[in-house]
Amino acid sequence: MTTLHDEPVSDTDALMASKASNRAPVIVPGPHRDCPICDTDNANGEPVRYSRDPWQLKQCRDCGLVYLENPPGYEALSVDLAWEKSYTMEMQRRRKGHRLHYLISDPLKRVRVLFRGGGVRRKEQAWIARHVGSGRLLDVGCGTGRTLMELPKSIIPYGIEISEHLAAETNKLCRSRGGYVVENNAVDGMGQFEADFFDGMMLRAFLEHETQPRLLLEAAQHALAPKGRIIIKVPNYSSVNRVVRGGNWCGFRFPDHVNYFTPETLRRVVEMTGFRVTQFGVLDRFPFNDNMWLAAEKPAAR
Ligand SMILES: [Zn+2]
Repeated sequence: MTTLHDEPVSDTDALMASKASNRAPVIVPGPHRDCPICDTDNANGEPVRYSRDPWQLKQCRDCGLVYLENPPGYEALSVDLAWEKSYTMEMQRRRKGHRLHYLISDPLKRVRVLFRGGGVRRKEQAWIARHVGSGRLLDVGCGTGRTLMELPKSIIPYGIEISEHLAAETNKLCRSRGGYVVENNAVDGMGQFEADFFDGMMLRAFLEHETQPRLLLEAAQHALAPKGRIIIKVPNYSSVNRVVRGGNWCGFRFPDHVNYFTPETLRRVVEMTGFRVTQFGVLDRFPFNDNMWLAAEKPAAR
């Protein structure tokens, strides 16, 4: 079973050590936003109990999506909220209150990783092989490009990355294999590619960060070729672990997780942007897993 806990675990200790002296950057809430799926204004709705001042979580009264109503702008996300930074801060916060839990879970986690040997990455590769196979593949929020570089030669790797430093580094890697990286936010970056350009796209641990998820999926439709596939992995807000651990669930990251999808709301936004879901079985949205995986296809041109 994979969990959000496990995903970055190979880097966790190094990050904790090297960034232990980080002071929390001051990040201010952005303006109010309506539900990013159905545009309902939920300003008058009660905040969800997991809200953490000054960040307001709301549940849309129409479509049910749980989302951050006042997320910071893209600039804050690129400069202050580098993924490692917010991850480290969240781990420090969680560890403070739960020393005993981590005393037990850390050694267990190391053993699991030893046996599993990069299981999450193998799963990604299996999904890309099954749904995309070959051709141009875009990794949205490609980071260091580690995933792209591990794909078979039949895949030409492309990326979008908001961090200037990571975009430049990963661009070099992608160019060596015929692709390239665009430095931009995901919605605008997607618009820099021609229509029908890609055979596949990967939104792995990305859609929960995107303040305009519907707009991004619409842009993805445009950039994908007919019959092109999109693979999405996000935390599952309906997971048993969220119910049990409440506010300490590993899927909560304030303020950089701005959407909290359930299987229903994820399917809804994917289908309303014109995709046909091709894989989203019970095991792909298993309630004992903190994450869920979905694959969908852009319908063939008529
Ligand atoms: Zn809604």
